Amino acid sequence: MRDHADRDVVLVTLDSCRYDTAVQAVTPNLDRLGPLLQAETSGTFTLPAHVAFFSGMTPRPLDGEHDLAGQQYRSIWRSTAARPSTAATAVPFTGPMLMDHYSRSGFKVIGAGGVTFFDPKEPGNWLPSLFDTFYYFGRTNATAADTRVRYREESLTLAHPEILADDARAAKRFFLFINCPSTHIPYTTPNTRLTNRTRALLERLYRLHDSKQVTPDAFAPDEVASLHSMQVRALEWADQQLGILFDRLADREPLVVLCADHGEEFGDDGRYGHGHPHPSVTTVPLWSGILRQEQP
Ligand SMILES: [Zn+2]
Repeated sequence: MRDHADRDVVLVTLDSCRYDTAVQAVTPNLDRLGPLLQAETSGTFTLPAHVAFFSGMTPRPLDGEHDLAGQQYRSIWRSTAARPSTAATAVPFTGPMLMDHYSRSGFKVIGAGGVTFFDPKEPGNWLPSLFDTFYYFGRTNATAADTRVRYREESLTLAHPEILADDARAAKRFFLFINCPSTHIPYTTPNTRLTNRTRALLERLYRLHDSKQVTPDAFAPDEVASLHSMQVRALEWADQQLGILFDRLADREPLVVLCADHGEEFGDDGRYGHGHPHPSVTTVPLWSGILRQEQP
């Protein structure tokens, strides 16, 4: 039995993806990893969620455990330096951060980001500095607020699966982290194009995101359904692109953990966006498993 600590790693965060979005979406590539799990995240927005993940505390399955090659684990990673535990852990490590652990173990540590917390040019950002190599394809925070509702393709991390996979494959061992903004507002992808109606809906939604106020009935049920449907289709586009990545990496049989960093409120109890400790934000989709080559 191969030690999971020796496996290459692919850690993917689907930014803002609700659990019920993953239930509705058709995701044949994600399903290669194993069943969709309902999980609980430690952060309500991108920064604290990723700090927890990078410390080894990825979302906890609410019902059930991680299944890796037929073995059950309560957690994938756990730093045992300060908090010894008897819970079954696939890859125990010492030290504060996964990237430091894998780097010291001889892995090439590669990251790619799409939302602005990962923009290395922003002086307040430090997450990209944790990686040996970091790719940022997203917009800069300096973008005027009124251009946030826009069509996206090249700015999406998963528009570039070949670049990321080839960089990883070139290393003897790799830890590859990818933050995917396709499921983050404005949910636009080549699979989710803007119409006059959805553009107007998204402009209203951005204002509600910004206000963080409780605003009951700000959208009619069919308008909420349209916005939710855009996130579902954005996830299906991410699945298609992850299929390209997986095909290039499957022969390495990496350990893959794929989850949302947090969810998104679509008027749940009157609020929109994320950053609030509401179950629609703290409950996230999770897949984990060993990626293997598909049988012909
Ligand atoms: Zn996020």
